[in-house]
Amino acid sequence: MKKKVYIKTFGCQMNENDSEKMLWLLSEEYEPVKAPSEADLILINTCSVREKPEYKVHSEVGRFKHLKKRKPHLILGITGCVAQQKGEALVKRFPFVDIVLGTQEFYRIKEAIKLVKKGKGPVVWTELKDSFNLPFVPPVRKLCSGVKAYVTIMQGCDNFCTYCIVPYVRGREVSRPPEEILKEVETLASYGIKEVMLLGQNVNSYGKKEKGFPSFAELLKMVAQIEGIWRVRFTTSHPKDLSDELIEVIAKEPKVCKHLHLPLQAGSNRVLKRMNRKYTLEDYLQKVEKLKKLCPEIALTTDIIVGFPGETEKDFEETLKALEKIRYHEIFSFKYSDRPFTAAQKFEDKVPEEEKEKRLDAVHKVQERITQEIYQSYVGKEVEVLVEGRSKKDPSMFMGRTSTNVIVNFIAALEEELIGTLVKVRVTSAGKHSLKGEFEEVIKS
Ligand code: SF4
Repeated sequence: MKKKVYIKTFGCQMNENDSEKMLWLLSEEYEPVKAPSEADLILINTCSVREKPEYKVHSEVGRFKHLKKRKPHLILGITGCVAQQKGEALVKRFPFVDIVLGTQEFYRIKEAIKLVKKGKGPVVWTELKDSFNLPFVPPVRKLCSGVKAYVTIMQGCDNFCTYCIVPYVRGREVSRPPEEILKEVETLASYGIKEVMLLGQNVNSYGKKEKGFPSFAELLKMVAQIEGIWRVRFTTSHPKDLSDELIEVIAKEPKVCKHLHLPLQAGSNRVLKRMNRKYTLEDYLQKVEKLKKLCPEIALTTDIIVGFPGETEKDFEETLKALEKIRYHEIFSFKYSDRPFTAAQKFEDKVPEEEKEKRLDAVHKVQERITQEIYQSYVGKEVEVLVEGRSKKDPSMFMGRTSTNVIVNFIAALEEELIGTLVKVRVTSAGKHSLKGEFEEVIKS
């Protein structure tokens, strides 16, 4: 009988993908379980991009202390960004932790477990290298259920935005060899995966540092050619690297989804400069305009930080104006928080917490209205939906997404075989963050 592993993942899709890979690596010996109390191995894959998830990690680790007392054979590991950032300090603070693996060491999980079993723990590995060092981890059929999958195409970041910890915990930007990416996507397609999301901290600078690598736009076209793959998505893009070539591929390649997540962060050029974002609002607007002209159906989403050090009321108003002008489908907005190692943590002109709260509230209000207006504009229209499964809120309904990444819940008098098909749905109403509709027909199965 296989042993049981429980993985708790915090943070972004990159972390989710790393967790999946750890499951693939462990699959000969371990099978995943949903309850930590059943596990022989618990892994916490951590995020340190913001303060809140980092604190959550600490309370999560503390929670497992008692479990370890009851089950002495239980192995407890911490991986990901907090593991990278804190290293040895984690085992000092939590002496019951057996394994700490940094962002480029998670693939050595089996080796680490072996050492712990031999009594050679705790194992702490946090080296960061400048070249692509992650071995190819073949996807495991049994663990690749569902319709979509993540594929990491690069790691790290060279941009050093002044608020961001990523370059310090994920290392320098390195692209994964294209043949490996294609092999992984082909394998996923052979398992029935229909949609892939290409992941990286800054995907549109893919291949820029490596000799002979395709550009990101070329890579997108190569992935789109793989038989069995119906949709290709990607995240995250840096506005400064959004090339005309890429805009054209998004607009013209039918398999590339008509959704772009393009983090703006702030609407004021003064703040953007202090953030070291390397573009102005005008540069950003120009690119967005080009994209909307070539691809009018494009849905944009973004990240916004409010209360960056030195952000005045006037600067903040520029952000609100930008939201009105660009009209994003959805935004992810956050209050600025100091992160270790970053330049901005040393900036002295911090915005008071209440002011940050107020600004976050204002952003939410403006965006809620815009999202509603956009979602309402779908009502009465027919949309193509890739069916992912049953709706979590109402299992009598199916759930899927449009190419523009909008969630659609719909009723259909059909059975499970609808899952994994592309269907036509007529939108009947708009909710806060999703649409409702009625099934019309299967377009592709
Ligand atoms: S582009 Fe900026 S915000 Fe994004 S990961 Fe790199 S440093 Fe962080």
